[in-house]
Amino acid sequence: MIVLLVMSYQVKAEKTWGPTGHRVVGTIAETHLKPKTKRKLKKLLKKKSLAFLSTYGDEIKSDKRYNKFYTWHYVNMPLDEDYDASKSNPKGDLVTGIEYCKKIIKDKNSSDDDKAFYLKMLIHLIGDLHQPMHVGLAEDRGGNDFKVQWHYQDTNMHAVWDYKMLDRYDMSYQELAANADVLTKDEIKKLQEGTTIDWVNEVHQLSREVYKSAEQGENLRYKYSYKYLNVVRYQLQKGGIRLAKVLNDLF
Ligand SMILES: [Zn+2]
Repeated sequence: MIVLLVMSYQVKAEKTWGPTGHRVVGTIAETHLKPKTKRKLKKLLKKKSLAFLSTYGDEIKSDKRYNKFYTWHYVNMPLDEDYDASKSNPKGDLVTGIEYCKKIIKDKNSSDDDKAFYLKMLIHLIGDLHQPMHVGLAEDRGGNDFKVQWHYQDTNMHAVWDYKMLDRYDMSYQELAANADVLTKDEIKKLQEGTTIDWVNEVHQLSREVYKSAEQGENLRYKYSYKYLNVVRYQLQKGGIRLAKVLNDLF
């Protein structure tokens, strides 16, 4: 019983970019899709937007039937190691989850229902990959046990990066997507280079900085947003641009 209680607590504690963040990633991705990709997605996803489907991975989290996908939302690494050097999670992680989704979607023998399910997971996971606390330490469960205050309220670093900063900014996902910084074609191309593991290692560099950005128990306020809200916005933009690349490659 105690074990069960602890487990259900963990399920609740380990969140993800809030819905706003995931929807920004989905909306930005749509602006970078090739016409052929758009057509195929429209059919498989029954005309639902990527923003609408981007939160599916979290919506099924509390449903026990989907427990096996739980570890796919994050990957833990020591701060001084990269993905290949660190011990892998036998239950799977962000990287193996993303690669599994791609495999099912590419497989000619997969049913359309399976393809749709793994597409929805993929849309979500590429978003999670760009949240630095989803590429954090195992010891503090990706910053969930890194306790801080956010404008005088008790919370943790994971939540600050998932949604506290964005919620306080209080802009809709459409407005955030529409006001993403303007990038050149070359900058976009550059961001789309690399493998899933390269992207994880890149975000892990940011995780290191985030771990140094506050003391345990510190009351984070405006100064923190001045410094990091733009980082959050850029991570969401990168997530969207890369999600489009992954989808364009698949279709
Ligand atoms: Zn997630």
